Amino acid sequence: MTQQDEVPQGAAARERFCIHYRTQPPGAYYGGTEYVAALQRLKADAAMRAAGNVEAFFWKDAPRVKVWLCHPCAATLALRNESTSGSRRNYEKT
Ligand SMILES: [Zn+2]
Repeated sequence: MTQQDEVPQGAAARERFCIHYRTQPPGAYYGGTEYVAALQRLKADAAMRAAGNVEAFFWKDAPRVKVWLCHPCAATLALRNESTSGSRRNYEKT
């Protein structure tokens, strides 16, 4: 008898949303890993506040979790949506 940690067909269950989601603000999905890394960049109390706006998940699941954040929440975490990133990059080289 082996116990498996794996959740079958859990794609939908692997999504987390910020508390503003139900008011349908503009937002985007971010990788769980990115989200956790962003939290860790914040100061403890800021991280607590930011995390409090998002449904919790185990950090060990982060690679499999997608986190939907509205733009203000993403901004708080200094996360940027890769898919909408435009041409503005720091290519200030001569
Ligand atoms: Zn939000």
